[in-house]
Amino acid sequence: MVSCGYCKAAVALYQKKGRGSLKRMYLEKIVNSAVDLSAVPETLCCPACQRQLATRVALKRKNTEAYQLIRSAVNSKEL
Ligand SMILES: [Zn+2]
Repeated sequence: MVSCGYCKAAVALYQKKGRGSLKRMYLEKIVNSAVDLSAVPETLCCPACQRQLATRVALKRKNTEAYQLIRSAVNSKEL
């Protein structure tokens, strides 16, 4: 579960692989999101306080897109 580091609102449910802190979220592994990601917005903002939580990055090697999390802006915990 990824939540906003400022207001604690739930942002996304993410299928994380492996241990360690979450640095980026791959689009296809975001199970559920409080933000509409269907248009693949440039930035991911908190649905409650509107602060920016992540920036979209294209990963050419994997031919996919992901959201690079701003480290201080999000909390992630395993369910
Ligand atoms: Zn927030």
